[in-house]
Amino acid sequence: MHSPREQLLDKYESVENEEWMAEPEAVEAVEDELESIEAELMDLTSHGAFRKYLVRYIKEEKRRYKQGDVSEPLCDCGDIYCDLRRGTLPAAFRSGGIDSDSIDEFLLQHEGDGRVLTDAHKHYSKQLGELKTRLRVVHRKLIENGDH
Ligand SMILES: [Zn+2]
Repeated sequence: MHSPREQLLDKYESVENEEWMAEPEAVEAVEDELESIEAELMDLTSHGAFRKYLVRYIKEEKRRYKQGDVSEPLCDCGDIYCDLRRGTLPAAFRSGGIDSDSIDEFLLQHEGDGRVLTDAHKHYSKQLGELKTRLRVVHRKLIENGDH
């Protein structure tokens, strides 16, 4: 099975291929949208992007928790040294790959719920999904106006 990231990149590839066959006016019509998608795509799928996303997300959640914007702690374990509770990426993730499997594995071994990790991953996947939907719309527009 392809990961959401791979599915997204596959979709992007078919849009790029379609661009070659579409009329110039059709390409022009989707140009701005495609540019904005590409920027986000780079941001979300480039090497190490998920790790960066996680670090940002955890930091932001820590800030929101401190301010009282969210009532749930980042992790409900009792460990005052818990990286998540302190608002940093757990040491286990500081090197090597990080994906939903390694998150699951970490949470299995961690005493608390590590809520912020699951939330971050959910948000990340949702953003990938939204980007894929936007690509699908662009793809359809190109096909409809393509020179087939
Ligand atoms: Zn914890």
